[in-house]
Amino acid sequence: MEVKNCKECGRLFNWMNGPKICPACVKKVEDKFQEVKEYVRNNKGASLEQISEDNDVAIKQIKQWVREERLVFAEDSMVGIDCELCGKMIRTGKYCNECKDKVQNNLATGIKQKPKVEPKKPVKDNPRMRFLDK
Ligand SMILES: [Zn+2]
Ligand SMILES: [Zn+2]
Repeated sequence: MEVKNCKECGRLFNWMNGPKICPACVKKVEDKFQEVKEYVRNNKGASLEQISEDNDVAIKQIKQWVREERLVFAEDSMVGIDCELCGKMIRTGKYCNECKDKVQNNLATGIKQKPKVEPKKPVKDNPRMRFLDK
């Protein structure tokens, strides 16, 4: 456990993992999320800009919720975010259905191939492991 400054309010708090935001600010974001969720449900036609303005929340934050699949737009709504691979409009998650399939296939083959590809180096010389450590 470490003591860190909250990125939002600057207060010191005991940080373990995840975003460097204190519990009070996490709660604030959580309350905001409930507000936005309710708003989206009642305003199906609202654009991202509108949602952002009416709820005083950053578009970036809204998109993050959508990527985390916490916020889902109605099938017939005009709002969406871009598929991270092909840029097609999607309503939730990171990828459109086609790209999701592709990613899942890649993942499956990746796992199968892994023993062959894995270099036989000591862990500390593996740059990838160092990167993960950060
Ligand atoms: Zn805070
Ligand atoms: Zn896609």
